[in-house]
Amino acid sequence: MADVEKIKNFVKAIPDFPKEGIIFRDIFPIFRDPSAVEALLTHIAHHVQSTTNEKIDVVLGLDARGFLFGPLLALRLHASFAPIRKKGKLPGSIISAAYTKEYGVDEFEIQADAIQGGQNVIIIDDLIATGGSAYAAKELVEKAGGRVVEFVFVIELVDLKGRDKLGGNVYSVIQY
Ligand code: 5GP
Repeated sequence: MADVEKIKNFVKAIPDFPKEGIIFRDIFPIFRDPSAVEALLTHIAHHVQSTTNEKIDVVLGLDARGFLFGPLLALRLHASFAPIRKKGKLPGSIISAAYTKEYGVDEFEIQADAIQGGQNVIIIDDLIATGGSAYAAKELVEKAGGRVVEFVFVIELVDLKGRDKLGGNVYSVIQY
């Protein structure tokens, strides 16, 4: 599709970042061209609206690059936005879930009143690799009594099979 090709042209492959042997997919260049941001958000919103009849109540963005896309998608879907943050960053009453990183374990948190029981939720992030962080986000939603309707990623690293861990609807715009 022309819009996906356009967006893909803005994603830059940075070799040996953050360490040797890793090809980092940099999404920040998308934001240097408003027409690329427009094309991306229109593409994602159209996908969501054409594949579900359900009202999306909440869009959750994952710390930190999910915060770039989450509020824009929430606005398009007339939904609320809330952040999922790494441990210790959110004030007030919170819900936590542990997740495994490359080295050791970390925790994700959400404000307890960000999701009401029974609400339909979309989880969004820039990229899915192993799926560990998105899986922890799903646990948070379920602890809060919400339902994950779909996971949305701008980029999917297909070989890492992260989507298999999530066991639900997973959509990615660009695959490597
Ligand atoms: P996972 O939990 O699926 O293994 O890792 C996904 C997380 O790692 C995402 O929050 C994403 O921002 C970050 N990440 C890992 N590799 C890359 C990459 O090459 N590019 C970008 N933009 N993010 C990455």
